Amino acid sequence: MPRDSWIADLHIHSKYSRACSKDLELPNLAYWARRKGIRLLGTGDVTHPAWLAHLGETLEEAEPGLYRLKESIEHRLPPSLKGEPTRFMLSGEISTIYKRDERTRKVHHLVYFPDLESAGRFRASLVKAGCNLSSDGRPIIGLDSRDLLEMTLEAHADAYLVPAHIWTPWFSALGSKSGFDAIADCYADLADHITAVETGLSSDPEMNLRVSSLDRYRLVSNSDAHSPQALAREATEFDCDLDYYAVKRALAGEPGLTGTIEFFPEEGKYHADGHRDCGVNWSPAQTKAAKGVCPVCGRQLTVGVLARVEELADRAPDQQPSPQRVTHLIQLHQVIGEIEGVGAKSKTVDGKINALVAALGAELTILTKTPLDDVSRVGGELLAEGIRRLRAGQVDRVPGFDGEYGVIRLFQPDELRASTSDDGLFELFDVPRVEAKPRPRAKAAAVAPRKPVSAPPLPSIASPHEPFEPMLAGMEEVGTGLLDRLDAMQRVAASAPGGPLLIVAGPGTGKTRTLTHRLAYLCAEMNVFPEQCLAITFTRRAAEELRHRLASLLGPVAKDVTVATFHALALSLLRERDSSYEVTEETDLDQLVPRAVELLREDPDKLRWNWVFVDEYQDVDQHQYDLLRLLVPPDGNICAIGDPDQAIYSFRGADVGFFLRFSQDFEDARVVRLTRNYRSSAPIIAAAVQAIAPTSLIKGRRLDPAKVDLEAPLIGLYPAASTADEAGFIAKKVDELVGGVSHRSKAADTRGVTGATVGFGDIAVLYRTDAQATAIVETLSRAGIPVQKRSHNRLKDREGVSALIHEMRLAHPEGSVAARLKKLANEQTWAAADLLMPLAQRSGHDLERFLADVATGAEVDALDPRAEAVTLLTLHAAKGLEFPVVFLTGCEDGLLPLRMPGKQPTDDEIAEERRLFFVGITRAQRRLFLSHSARRTRFGTERETRPSPFLAAIDSGLLESYKEEAPRRPRDLQLRLL
Ligand code: ATP
Ligand code: MG
Repeated sequence: MPRDSWIADLHIHSKYSRACSKDLELPNLAYWARRKGIRLLGTGDVTHPAWLAHLGETLEEAEPGLYRLKESIEHRLPPSLKGEPTRFMLSGEISTIYKRDERTRKVHHLVYFPDLESAGRFRASLVKAGCNLSSDGRPIIGLDSRDLLEMTLEAHADAYLVPAHIWTPWFSALGSKSGFDAIADCYADLADHITAVETGLSSDPEMNLRVSSLDRYRLVSNSDAHSPQALAREATEFDCDLDYYAVKRALAGEPGLTGTIEFFPEEGKYHADGHRDCGVNWSPAQTKAAKGVCPVCGRQLTVGVLARVEELADRAPDQQPSPQRVTHLIQLHQVIGEIEGVGAKSKTVDGKINALVAALGAELTILTKTPLDDVSRVGGELLAEGIRRLRAGQVDRVPGFDGEYGVIRLFQPDELRASTSDDGLFELFDVPRVEAKPRPRAKAAAVAPRKPVSAPPLPSIASPHEPFEPMLAGMEEVGTGLLDRLDAMQRVAASAPGGPLLIVAGPGTGKTRTLTHRLAYLCAEMNVFPEQCLAITFTRRAAEELRHRLASLLGPVAKDVTVATFHALALSLLRERDSSYEVTEETDLDQLVPRAVELLREDPDKLRWNWVFVDEYQDVDQHQYDLLRLLVPPDGNICAIGDPDQAIYSFRGADVGFFLRFSQDFEDARVVRLTRNYRSSAPIIAAAVQAIAPTSLIKGRRLDPAKVDLEAPLIGLYPAASTADEAGFIAKKVDELVGGVSHRSKAADTRGVTGATVGFGDIAVLYRTDAQATAIVETLSRAGIPVQKRSHNRLKDREGVSALIHEMRLAHPEGSVAARLKKLANEQTWAAADLLMPLAQRSGHDLERFLADVATGAEVDALDPRAEAVTLLTLHAAKGLEFPVVFLTGCEDGLLPLRMPGKQPTDDEIAEERRLFFVGITRAQRRLFLSHSARRTRFGTERETRPSPFLAAIDSGLLESYKEEAPRRPRDLQLRLL
């Protein structure tokens, strides 16, 4: 006995998603679901704090794992609505943007949860991965798809994930631009947990059946509605119990999924190939013949779903029958709109549908089941004829392409003009019909010639014959060949015999690389014990970097090498004597090194580390210097590395004098100089050398690019009108660099990088003062871009948390810390509240204890290590690091160089600020953007500001000003060409 089937639409959005209708609230959704004939509706946007709160207030539990509108709200729906009340399943869509195998991947996923608690756990893990949940109901996260799946499964044993619209070129698991060739590749070792895939609007099951690797998945369809009217434009039919777990089982292959309701795939906006702006709409064969190049603008065409399916297909069409029912439809309002010759969304159409639904039942029933006689009686002959043709698949199709919907028509225009219909609801309009959506006209290619620039004075090339070596990737062979990855001078340094060694060299010349290779070489080939090696750096991040590089060279034995910051080293020395030694206050931190020095003076160390390496030696202060002198005898095996022009910590007592005195402190010191810069493009290096020249501490400073790429982009310069404008520029540029974070993104900027290879983790935003970060964090987060702010000052975090707690005291005086925090999080006040939840739960009702935990707890600033995010850093914290793309912000007089009110900086201070500017520029590998704002608020007052005088040192031929992006008037152009 066949069971009754029912319709589910499990991919929709709320009003909190970008570009979505304000009407997307639950009572409205419930109304429209009933009107369409949907029995089970995904809630969408389950990760959004405000939407989740709305769900909590409006829904109550119904069948296992499902929800329904509270009785009091359901009552308010118009009584004329037919059909059963709709059930809701907690659902959301997540966009992952990340790099795998050197390619930027962008994949959308649908996630489902059986209860609000597990949805909450899932949210918390997203926040920990740096995701801003309140900016968009469809959040973006810099996490591998595989890791997102893991988070979903960890939230609840019965939570599940379905890859969304798997063929969309830019944002899907199989997408031509940013996906994979198989679903299993996308989800790696967890791929078995994927049992169903959403085919999306531009493909139907027939197309998917041509790809045999998809045989193991159930094919589902949903509306991805951005307005209530679009609900169920695609949908899935089930006949299992109405129950979360039964649906999950049906999606895993048990009986219960009976079919799908589909667009004609041509209607989807990425069906065929083409360029929307150029008006090119091509079949895959045409695209192939033209080698994928647009005949109008000469760029690569957007390859649609049809072509992509053909690319991956291993079966001919129609070879494999569909195991489930497939119903192709257009929506009722499209049918009536076509007949009426008015817009499908017009009031006329809506009124007619209301009448039809009141008389005949839900829209989907009318389209698929209602006897045509009944349709004719209520809606007129034309409507009945239209629906007959629709059911028979007799439709005209103009395929969609490059984001433009296709057009499906049931009638020829003259049929509609000629026929008369005097019965039923419809009158005949004898007005010119709207032709199939007018094709956008090809715009003249407005490609402005490249701005003529005076050729940048390129620095001399070290050796044009030596090819640029790719950077180390992953494990290297241990032992032989360790030094092969170094250039001649680096090799000299790395293989030098024991004794004092000073490596002095500019940024990006491989100092740190030489250090790690030397250490690895000594251990792997010269029988030095890793336990006897100590490598010291300044920041935790730099220490992490060193450990990472050592592990890739030495493998597991790298763990035996001591890698530490000066602070950590001092702490471990102190703890050795007194195991209970604790650091309780931030100020204590500064005492660590002097205490360790005292201790070693009283009780000298037994030279347990025979080999000591110090990176960034130009920045040691008196105490650190004393500590080193106590650890290493004058003829000891010390390798100190640094660049005097990058000395930026004198305000904290660092003294570049120690560096310059190395040869006096250590006997017979060997000195090696390196000048080939492997990090940055030629324009960036040239700008850096010019920027430091006026006060360089190195006579005849030179820095030569190791590779010359004539295509290397110039340095971007953005003169912003305000700090908000500056932040907006960064957000826009980030969006372009990763090739667009959403469907709404237009331009892509992949110059200087091959293909779409920039991920969020490749981008850093640098600034002089922490205060600059606020506007940038806010703007990027609002744009849905994951950011990660490296703050090396816990007290700052503590201030933020104090503010949060103050708010919690006022707004929610009752309840446990966790409950109060949750309320704040729901009110969108603080995304960070999620992050603090583990600590809050531990603290019970004790706010003070919670505050103390926050101040010391590592959990708070520990971002999920798998997350990729744009890094925000002060210039000081950026030392030693490198990023493919760098934004150096706030290049203004007074900020860089920094000036405090009422105080004139000394020449030495200005020189140090210049070095900071130099450090900032030299962090960039391929793209560098400098920006300044015409106004800035500092110390509570907004003032006009001037560009940094440091900028003047850079040849304007190396710069490309982004203010000139506005199209030039054709006349100007002609004049120039003449
Ligand atoms: P900084 O002064 O900024 O700390 P550095 O001198 O320590 O710079 P590294 O970070 O060691 O420079 O190297 C800069 C980049 O150049 C790294 O990506 C490194 O892998 C690469 N590199 C260095 N030497 C070579 C080489 N011989 N071949 C290929 N790449 C190299
Ligand atoms: Mg370095």
